[in-house]
Amino acid sequence: MTTYDDNNIFARILRGEIPHESIYENDYVLAFKDIAPLAPVHILVIPKGKYISVVDFGMKASTEESIAFWRAVPEIAAAQNLGEDGFRIIANTGFHGGQEVPHFHVHILGGECLGSILHRD
Ligand code: AMP
Repeated sequence: MTTYDDNNIFARILRGEIPHESIYENDYVLAFKDIAPLAPVHILVIPKGKYISVVDFGMKASTEESIAFWRAVPEIAAAQNLGEDGFRIIANTGFHGGQEVPHFHVHILGGECLGSILHRD
């Protein structure tokens, strides 16, 4: 997909059309609980700007957006007490990457030992 879909679920969450369980928010970033958690802690971090994927974000985001996003990720992990035991971040990208929602997001997973890789049926 090359054009941002304004009706994707996360765009609708950002517009307040779909409820979400907020974890963190600033001018550039929103983080909320994943609706189908795959670990005791499973949070999605999204930029408020319209970016399809990590590629789109990495190529087009402003310096302010980029810094805000990548600072938010460790801040959220620390606030969730994941700092000491560790956690995993995942950015599924495109069809082969298994990306379901075409708005850039990072999964933060933790709260237990996750092993070497996650599986989804
Ligand atoms: P991905 O496969 O990386 O695109 O992951 C999309 C994630 O969004 C999945 O883990 C879903 O469980 C999650 N998700 C979908 N709809 C919602 C929603 N309304 N609120 C929170 N998480 C959602």
